[in-house]
Amino acid sequence: EPLLSLRGASKSYTLGGNVIRALKSVDLGLVRGEIAAITGPSGSGKSTLLNLCGLLDTADGGELLFDGEPLPAGDDVRRTALRRQAIGFVFQGFNLVPVMTAHDNVDYPLYLLGVPAAERRARVQEALARVGLQDLGGHKPDQLSGGQRQRVAIARAIVKRPRLVIADEPTANLDAQTASQIVGLMRALAHNDGTSFLVATHDERMLPHCDRSLMLDDGVLQGGIHAH
Ligand code: ADP
Ligand code: ADP
Repeated sequence: EPLLSLRGASKSYTLGGNVIRALKSVDLGLVRGEIAAITGPSGSGKSTLLNLCGLLDTADGGELLFDGEPLPAGDDVRRTALRRQAIGFVFQGFNLVPVMTAHDNVDYPLYLLGVPAAERRARVQEALARVGLQDLGGHKPDQLSGGQRQRVAIARAIVKRPRLVIADEPTANLDAQTASQIVGLMRALAHNDGTSFLVATHDERMLPHCDRSLMLDDGVLQGGIHAH
């Protein structure tokens, strides 16, 4: 059974009297420990799809199941709880808080979840170690390289031990070696922890390292369901 399923999901926006159909009856099944890349030109619906799968927004038609549990659009309480506990986010621009150290950036989601301080300290150390930054927890983002910052962002996404990580262009603006470290890290997390990754990317270098590649074209998703 997939970790995340979309069935016939659609989403439209209304803008100045025009209806924009951003997603058209999308079917998607993402299994545990899988890295799925979403490709497609600008405006094809990638961000909209990530927002639905990350429980940041709701579809206006179709069905979404998380770990087999139906999540109707109206159930905001359950969606919010699941988003906080089970889903991590990695964005292109790192989105780190500049005045906070790497340690405190990674700690923040646990603080919001109300995890006790002693446990938080241990888990932040563990997450930083997972991304190879155990010695740099005291550094602020501007004291880190681009690749190190992206690794902090990944540590922050995984410190909750999420079942799903949503990543938007995680290797954009990184040199080849750094990008390859980041993708290798995702592979290790997918393999060792069974974390699933949904990754929107334009980065051709990334695709061979993903388990499969899904194409969005004007709101239509190709390859969303495994052909067993
Ligand atoms: P991508 O991430 O692939 O660039 P998006 O999901 O951002 O695609 O956008 C898909 C379509 O929906 C585009 O036509 C875009 O202009 C439109 N769209 C996205 N967000 C909004 C919004 N908040 N209001 C109106 N239209 C939007
Ligand atoms: P392996 O397949 O042995 O894990 P690497 O992960 O080191 O090999 O990647 C092989 C090549 O592909 C490297 O030269 C690296 O620059 C490039 N590469 C791998 N992943 C990415 C990525 N996500 N973004 C950019 N380049 C990548």
